[in-house]
Amino acid sequence: MKFTYQKLAQDGAARRGKITTAHGVIDTPAFMPVGTAATVKGMRPEQVADTGAQILLGNTYHLMLRPGAERVAALGGLHTFMNWDKPILTDSGGYQVMSLSKLRKMTEEGVTFQSHVDGSKHALTPERSIEIQRLLDADITMSFDECTPFPATEEVAAESMRLSMRWAKRSRDAFVERDGYVFFGIVQGSIYPELRKESAEALQAIGFDGYAIGGLAVGEGQELMFQTLETTMPHMPDDKPRYLMGVGKPPDIVGAVLRGIDMFDCVLPTRSGRTAQAFTRRGTLNFMNARHAADPRPLDPDCACYTCRNYSRAYIHHLLKCDEMLGPMLLTQHNLHYYQELMAGLRGAIESGTLQQFASDFHQQYTGGDLEEYQ
Ligand SMILES: [Zn+2]
Repeated sequence: MKFTYQKLAQDGAARRGKITTAHGVIDTPAFMPVGTAATVKGMRPEQVADTGAQILLGNTYHLMLRPGAERVAALGGLHTFMNWDKPILTDSGGYQVMSLSKLRKMTEEGVTFQSHVDGSKHALTPERSIEIQRLLDADITMSFDECTPFPATEEVAAESMRLSMRWAKRSRDAFVERDGYVFFGIVQGSIYPELRKESAEALQAIGFDGYAIGGLAVGEGQELMFQTLETTMPHMPDDKPRYLMGVGKPPDIVGAVLRGIDMFDCVLPTRSGRTAQAFTRRGTLNFMNARHAADPRPLDPDCACYTCRNYSRAYIHHLLKCDEMLGPMLLTQHNLHYYQELMAGLRGAIESGTLQQFASDFHQQYTGGDLEEYQ
């Protein structure tokens, strides 16, 4: 299959679209669950697909260390290795080298670092990152960049962004064209509108199949994130997918869709599932809380997921109190279902031109509090 992006509907700045890749179609706005080490933790791939997910994110940094990109390639690529036949996007590894590895050293050439797993030494350059992503067989490859730390002065942010733009050119040159396989550039520039504009224009001069916004959701807060999106979006091409990396909480996603974003990824629904947190239309719930101990009702009575159809709040609370592995598995499945339902709701609202109403209903319910305590 050839890569295409079709815009099917628009409501304000929000877009309803369809991306076609080598391994299938992605309806946008889309949420990508994170499959860090070739697994969405605690979930079988068919369960992930059942939640409605059409694409997963794999982490280059983790997979290059274990089991190694060459080994994944020898075993048939990431789709075969992990038994997921739908599209996969891989990140470039840059972000995790910075956040996880030890004794890293960055130069114009790339980054050398010590593995956080066993201390072994590795190098990651734009060329090697693109090669690893090809070995993994990613449908969507991401440009190798530096995620500018926050806060950063305008001078530091400019230097970091321009290095990422030089790396973007080298990444593009290293990318091997194949039908249905595409390459996204990443706009950097921290919270500075002029830098974001410069970065978006520099990437378009190189030419990519999609454009991501990196360096947000790093502690700047929702207001600055939305402001940065508003000043950056006018410089993003209309006929290509737009991906906001590492976002986020449900209200962040709704706000970013309103501002024209098509794709998201975040560890929140899966990580929260492992820390007893559930996302519901009534906000987040902590299942370690004793208020659930005797509650026979489902986690969310309005949710159609496997967890909510079959288990009580009391049972989930019990599993988590006993540290039983089924507890995080059931919560993860619900959380991923919730995120995919949210995306489906956003897509439907854009199609019917009712996104403003959808967003206002969402906020009212999300901040309205949980069900009355069970008596
Ligand atoms: Zn549910």
